[in-house]
Formats: sequence, structure tokens, C-alpha cells
Amino acid sequence: MIALASSSPHKAMELARLLGLPVRAISGYVSPDEDGATFHDNAMIKARAGLAQAPSSDWVIADDSGLVVTALAGAPGVHSARFGGEGLDDAGRVRHLLELMRGVDDRAASFVCNLVVLGRDEQQGFADGTLAGTISLRPRGTGGFGYDPVFVPVHQARTVGEMSAEEKDEISHRGRAVRLLRRTMSW
Ligand code: IMP
Repeated sequence: MIALASSSPHKAMELARLLGLPVRAISGYVSPDEDGATFHDNAMIKARAGLAQAPSSDWVIADDSGLVVTALAGAPGVHSARFGGEGLDDAGRVRHLLELMRGVDDRAASFVCNLVVLGRDEQQGFADGTLAGTISLRPRGTGGFGYDPVFVPVHQARTVGEMSAEEKDEISHRGRAVRLLRRTMSW
């Protein structure tokens, strides 16, 4: 069984779907301070915390991901989950982003996902994936989570929020990272 070092049910669902393996959330998982400078650093911090908190799991997987916006000098980046302040939900963070992007012509952005897998036998696995796109002028669609309703992938007219789960998996940063990871792991 693979334990997920995250309290995000959306991530657990996407990772289990993408891996094609059961992934269970660590019950009572206590998030460590994500004070790393990079997505990889934070994924490693989460995976180590997860391994300590899931003593009966052979494997722990951690995903650190977020949105990188060119016109905002890479923000929200590693702070994507707390963008605009701790009190906001997904819709509030989207509103905050659109407010900052009001009147901005350069709407280039990318989703980034870094995965770290740690095994109790000291095995490790790493993979990352990105999805390039643009920030839409307003939210569209109810699929996915986070910034999906305002992210239009390159060569697409729809936001990720307007796509089915299968369509998202095929092109997403997380889908790409998982497919890369599967090539290096013995699962
Ligand atoms: P983390 O739990 O610190 O990795 O936070 C990642 C944050 O980035 C999430 O709370 C979302 O706001 C955003 N994010 C990550 N992956 C996605 C995605 O697939 N779609 C939309 N937003 C995402």
C-alpha cells in the first residue's frame, strides 16, 4: 500500500487514478512547514514527514505542485496553496489571481508537479511534470480543483475546469510526472 503525505483529497484521487494503484491518505496527517525554496524541496519535506507518520506503509508518495505565472515573476509558485492569505478557499485564490492579472496582457503560466517517493527500505523515486498554458479572463468549468477553472493549456480552447478527469490526466503536470515515475519504480 502506498501512503500519500498530503491532506488534499483531490490529489489523493488524482494520484490513485493516475498510478492505477491504491493510494491511501495518512490518517491524521500533520503537515510539516513547507518552507523549501523549490517544489522538489517541499515534496521531500512532505515525504519525510509522511514516512515518519505512516510506520506501517512500505511506500510514501508526496506531491508538491502549483501555478507559476510569468507576469507575476513566478508567483504564486510554491505558495500556490496559500496565495492571497490563509483564509481563502480555491474560489478566493482564483479571484485574487484574476484581480492581480486584471489588464495584464502577458497571461503565460504553467502548472508544475514534483513527486517524491520514499520507501522504507531507503528506495527513492523522483519525477516532475509541467503543463504550459495561459490564465483565462474569468473562471470557466467546475471540474478539477484549485486553479483549474482559469488555466487554459496550450493548444486548447477550454480551461482544465471544463475538461473531463480523463482529459486532464492525459495532459496534466501530475499525469506527466506520474507516467515518468512509473518508469523508474518497481511497482
Ligand atoms: P500543495 O499542497 O502545497 O502542493 O499545494 C498545491 C496548490 O497548487 C493547490 O492547493 C492548488 O491551489 C494548486 N494546484 C496544484 N495542482 C493543481 C492542479 O492540478 N490544478 C489546479 N490547481 C493545482
